[in-house]
Amino acid sequence: MTDVLVVADHRRGDLRDVSYELVTAGRELADETGGDLHVAVISGTVDEFADKLNREGVDAVHTVDYGEEFNHGVYTQATTQLYDELAPQYVLTPNSVNGLDYAPAVANELDLPIVTDTVALETDGETLTATREMYGGKVETTTELEGPAVVTIRGAEWPAAEGTGDAAIEAFDADIDEDALGTTVNGFEEVGGGDVDISEADVLVSVGRGIEEEENLEIIEELADALDATVSASRPIVDNGWLPKNRQVGQSGKVVTPDVYIAIGISGAVQHVAGMKGSDTIVAINTDPNAPIMDIADYAITDDLFDVVPALTEEFH
Ligand SMILES: Cc1cc2nc3c(=O)[nH]c(=O)nc-3n(C[C@H](O)[C@H](O)[C@H](O)COP(=O)(O)OP(=O)(O)OC[C@H]3O[C@@H](n4cnc5c(N)ncnc54)[C@H](O)[C@@H]3O)c2cc1C
Repeated sequence: MTDVLVVADHRRGDLRDVSYELVTAGRELADETGGDLHVAVISGTVDEFADKLNREGVDAVHTVDYGEEFNHGVYTQATTQLYDELAPQYVLTPNSVNGLDYAPAVANELDLPIVTDTVALETDGETLTATREMYGGKVETTTELEGPAVVTIRGAEWPAAEGTGDAAIEAFDADIDEDALGTTVNGFEEVGGGDVDISEADVLVSVGRGIEEEENLEIIEELADALDATVSASRPIVDNGWLPKNRQVGQSGKVVTPDVYIAIGISGAVQHVAGMKGSDTIVAINTDPNAPIMDIADYAITDDLFDVVPALTEEFH
């Protein structure tokens, strides 16, 4: 039996979607050997988060009520102490900015191996086989780790856990050494301007190099308005300075999982697809029927975006 501990991610008062995906990944891993799934939530409105995370298949939720926002030292100390108390085989965190900040420190503290950015996991109770992608998703590799380990999972690779669980919610009294914290969070400043988080959008209207000129972005914004959607982009649009960095989808941008992703004048390079392949419904508008994006699109419109986009806007207004 291998127990699994997953540590949820939240930011500015909201649990991140990946936290629910983490519950699924943890449950699947624990199920392989009939182990228990422990979920931990550290800092913030822990009781509210614990209720939300108490989904089907969760055996226990542990809350650490200390501070409001993510803090490297608090997460490292609390997770290490939870590990000592619960003795899980695996500790899972998201492969997020926060997860990557403290998971290696936890592994170091506990003298455990770590494997990051995993997209699939299997265990026989002793050996963990972790799948990772390399070269922008062109190559898959597997890594085998013996015994307990720390693992970070990539967002949008597991479905979000659903249903309501009946796990016990237990306050964990972590002994946080304040002298060892080193840092405090004093505030937030959004990178690249704007307060839009494209990874939380339900509908994304995404624009690529096919738009040709910055002033043509107007037709994209009009369509987004008509659909009550958020505008995102491929990398060349951001590199040109036409949209801020926080709008970029892909390997070096954000991973998004909207209900609908409309790719306009985007070819579908592996580095772009790595960031949007988890979208529920993909619509592609491209003059080239052989563009790779057409292979993954649920609806492929082979036509000129300068004709299609205004027509769609007209239709949805
Ligand atoms: C290390 C690394 C990291 C990267 N990270 C990212 C990343 O995070 N995100 C990302 O997006 N890219 C990333 N890239 C770049 C990536 O390889 C591609 O170059 C990029 O995604 C291409 O953007 P695009 O599809 O907008 O442009 P293009 O590949 O030039 O495609 C433009 C498309 O528009 C179509 N088109 C042209 N005119 C029209 C028209 N009038 N109507 C309809 N369709 C039209 C064309 O047929 C074409 O398919 C990365 C590259 C590297 C090496």
